[in-house]
Amino acid sequence: MITFLSGGTGTPKLLQGVRALVPDDGIAVVVNTAEDLWISGNHLSPDVDTVTYLFAGTLNTDTWWGMRGDTFVTHEEAKRLGADEFIAIGDRDRAVHIARGGLLRQGRTLTEATSDICRALGVRARVLPMCDTAVASMVRTPSGWVHFQEYWIRRRGEVDITEIVRRSEVPPVLTDKARRAILESEAVIIGPSNPVTSILPILECGGVRELLGKLPVIAVSPFIGDRPVSGPAYALMKAAGMKPGSYGTYRLYQDFTDLFVQDIRDTEEVPGAIKLDTLMTDTSRSRDLAERILARIPELSASYG
Ligand code: GDP
Repeated sequence: MITFLSGGTGTPKLLQGVRALVPDDGIAVVVNTAEDLWISGNHLSPDVDTVTYLFAGTLNTDTWWGMRGDTFVTHEEAKRLGADEFIAIGDRDRAVHIARGGLLRQGRTLTEATSDICRALGVRARVLPMCDTAVASMVRTPSGWVHFQEYWIRRRGEVDITEIVRRSEVPPVLTDKARRAILESEAVIIGPSNPVTSILPILECGGVRELLGKLPVIAVSPFIGDRPVSGPAYALMKAAGMKPGSYGTYRLYQDFTDLFVQDIRDTEEVPGAIKLDTLMTDTSRSRDLAERILARIPELSASYG
């Protein structure tokens, strides 16, 4: 078993390649849930959805969210009726949000709801929300604190942000299932996901950092120079008081990371890092990168005895 820590774009791209090399039932993915929110009465868990649809074979890999070929009839109609639905939700995607919202209202945990949905969709990998309590990434804008989704989707990331915090009623704790998956794994791979909004929320869950010290960990940078391949990682790292780039990312993970991977085009100095072509523009490039990363596991495992 190999466990991945994932957001909703960079790591899923890597997972697409991993699937060509490792059977799905040998893959566990601990997924960020700090971007979750209730919308139009249903429960959106964007990163869990992306990872689930990837393994179900239904993900729209042009956008890395939603289902391929989905329609938006309900979304358009809801907006016409005045609903404040600022995120485009496809009809089939919404069915998943309705199912999950219903299960959560019945008192099921997010882990249980995800497991039920995965079973129904034929997913064989373990898709594991990082925690079972609500946590939200909030960013400070000139007009006040807003949920990350408000900033990134409604305001298209076009406003200045100066701070980022995680808000939760109870401190998030890694779920038992995620803990077990990590302990059963040969290695943990932190894919090239946004360090601030996708990976740090997972690392902030109680118990994670100690676990990661027990087995080989490989982390992949989502940056080339100071620019991420896509998304708001530059602005978010700056808002969090970090220097955007591979070195800043490495610093966040260095306590428990055995091997750091940066892109061949990246000129930043990162101690001990290896350079690989990390630009995953299609499935064969994802597979090539996955193959090179997985090949490193045996030598790292050897040092853990
Ligand atoms: P989110 O939940 O949609 O923000 O997705 P993630 O956090 O999983 O991934 C976002 C990160 O993926 C961004 O910081 C990108 O730089 C990174 N990313 C996307 N595609 C690639 C790629 O092909 N290679 C690398 N190295 N990083 C990528």
